[in-house]
Amino acid sequence: MKKGKMIILSGPSGSGKTTISHYLLSKFPELKFSVSCTTRSIRNNEIHGKDYYFLSVNSFIYKIKKCQFAEWEEVYPNLFYGTLKNEISKIWKSNQHILFDIDVKGGLNLKKKYPNNSLSIFVTVNSINILKKRLIARCYKNNTNINTRLNKVQEENSYAKLFDFILFNIDLYQTKKKAIQIVSNFIYGKQSE
Ligand code: 5GP
Repeated sequence: MKKGKMIILSGPSGSGKTTISHYLLSKFPELKFSVSCTTRSIRNNEIHGKDYYFLSVNSFIYKIKKCQFAEWEEVYPNLFYGTLKNEISKIWKSNQHILFDIDVKGGLNLKKKYPNNSLSIFVTVNSINILKKRLIARCYKNNTNINTRLNKVQEENSYAKLFDFILFNIDLYQTKKKAIQIVSNFIYGKQSE
């Protein structure tokens, strides 16, 4: 199978990586979002098969045993997330490049597996208060959820230096502009105007 390219976006929850991921998908028609599997429950605005494949813990474990994942992580206690090998091959078969929005460890694992055709970008902000505000604005049902995510930030930030690029999302307009430049350079081998 012909291998395409991979763009991996990782970073703390609330850093804006999902916004940037949607923006990149709207700007680069040759990019396709990798739909992950998760065992967390579906949110109001989410669609099975578009945002995630929502699985029971049993079916997730079955897929682990059958070696169907390219990577998987227990991102939060008892919540599993993973990228199916099949998702990667399906996108490459359609002659598109892949955009991942995955956690830091999963992102670095993919980078290690596909060192020659992947670009890893770490998206972060320089204040935990900004993350907190963004997470609250997302209306999670309870504080545990927000706190679980905030507790991970320090650990996640410690992996930043292992990524190809670090994007500080302070001004969203500037961050999007920079993201376009980095991705354009990676896909086409030149900077966009
Ligand atoms: P959320 O529950 O907010 O959608 O995602 C929680 C975290 O899981 C985010 O950091 C997201 O990037 C990460 N994540 C989503 N899909 C995957 C995946 O397939 N593998 C890994 N390792 N992390 C993922």
